[in-house]
Amino acid sequence: MKIALVTGGTRGIGGGISRALSESGYFVAANYNKDIDTAKKFHEETGIPIFSWDVSDYDSCIKGVEEICNTLGGDVDVLVNNAGITKDGMLHKMDPIDWHRVIATNLTSVFNMCRVVIPAMREKRFGRIINLSSVNGLKGQVGQTNYSAAKAGILGFTKSLALESASKGITVNAIAPGYISTDMTDAIRDDIKEKIIDGIPVGRFGKVDEIANAVLYLSGEEASYVTGTTLSINGGQYL
Ligand code: NDP
Repeated sequence: MKIALVTGGTRGIGGGISRALSESGYFVAANYNKDIDTAKKFHEETGIPIFSWDVSDYDSCIKGVEEICNTLGGDVDVLVNNAGITKDGMLHKMDPIDWHRVIATNLTSVFNMCRVVIPAMREKRFGRIINLSSVNGLKGQVGQTNYSAAKAGILGFTKSLALESASKGITVNAIAPGYISTDMTDAIRDDIKEKIIDGIPVGRFGKVDEIANAVLYLSGEEASYVTGTTLSINGGQYL
């Protein structure tokens, strides 16, 4: 059985991805950061083991992956870099701390996690890496210079690592979701939400499972010829 590691994998989109992978027969390890109550509840409901560390910190990533490999008895076959945060604000008012925190959590984390798992994948000549970008990394968004920069950065990173890894049986792809109903989008004001929905051809926010199903496809053997690509799942928003 293959081992899958999902960062931010205990709630929201990551929670859905962890459940879908587990139901499809993967040994899943779900990482989270600080929300231990939600993580414990997720573990009780699903039986999926949970591991807490901050993915923006390289040394913590080394320790976290080591613990997972020891607990599950093997190396990571599928890495889903899903953990992410927003700290929105207009650039002319943005606190540099909010710039650095968003870049570290959303982009540097992807380097950290890939750097830690990829040597074993190269040795095994198999790996699947799926990075969560965003529609706002493709088109930009008011108040999200930090978030859009991180999510656009993920796309360049994905393409470059795909090129480096193609001959080793490792695929590296990105998913760029539109607006998906989770805690992250629950935080958007209702009047702004309505405006956003007006701009989505399908006429609603997406569902967590609609992202999780794409991860299942990209994780599988059948996607071995798909690498370096970005899959937009956004209800038809024109880019
Ligand atoms: P949520 O806010 O619902 O969940 C975020 C998850 O990331 C939580 O599990 C959280 O852990 C974890 N996390 C945050 N910071 C860290 C950290 N430093 N180390 C480890 N884990 C961390 O987010 P969503 O489910 O909405 O989003 C998931 C991904 O999809 C993100 O990358 C997001 O940018 C992207 N995305 C989301 C969209 C949406 O509409 N929801 C649209 C486009 C992209 P904890 O539970 O401990 O806080």
